[in-house]
Amino acid sequence: MAPNYAPQWGVVSDSVQILEALKARALVCTQCGLADTRTQVVFGVGDPRARLMFVGEAPGQNEDLQGEPFVGAAGKLLDTLLDEIGMQRSEVYIANVLKCRPPGNRDPRPDEIDSCKGYLREQIRLISPEVVMTLGNFATKLLLNTEIGITRLRGRPHSWWLGAMLVPTFHPAAALRGGDRVAGQMREDFALVRSLLDATRGERAPMERDFEPSQMELFG
Ligand code: SF4
Repeated sequence: MAPNYAPQWGVVSDSVQILEALKARALVCTQCGLADTRTQVVFGVGDPRARLMFVGEAPGQNEDLQGEPFVGAAGKLLDTLLDEIGMQRSEVYIANVLKCRPPGNRDPRPDEIDSCKGYLREQIRLISPEVVMTLGNFATKLLLNTEIGITRLRGRPHSWWLGAMLVPTFHPAAALRGGDRVAGQMREDFALVRSLLDATRGERAPMERDFEPSQMELFG
């Protein structure tokens, strides 16, 4: 049964505080087997009121060691793409589907995603970004509840949950492997995100402060 993350925050009502409480809970999480092999939990980083949120797959070796998502070469490319649309890492929020590293960087398993996805759902609900950008197949398939691959879905904006737009793109690691063509497509996708943010002018859907049982259905 999927764990329930939401109704245990007592009198804490501010979304930033709730996010901190959620992080504290994740940092000691043992809800799946990855707790046995991780070095540390990589909860997420960035502005808790960010207009743009990135969702990747899972921590890699560097992330597992440093406790921060998208460090190393993939992180540098992400920073470069952000810079090209006039944004910095400190302005956005970055998280992964899984908060702990799968051994050897193997693919996430369905049971691990089921155990962990509640953290991501609550992160998105609390941050309530205007645009969510999924990085790669796993995040895209989970958040759009689809089996369609990233190559077909990338660069297409989707009206999504809480009034946000969702834009899928490749994982930066794929661009590092795939060369100029993939990196160029990512640049197009980031430019689309820039135009969406410019069009919304900072308007965002009001945060859903009350827990809605129907939201448990999100992410499959
Ligand atoms: S991957 Fe997620 S569910 Fe599994 S132990 Fe880490 S935080 Fe908990």
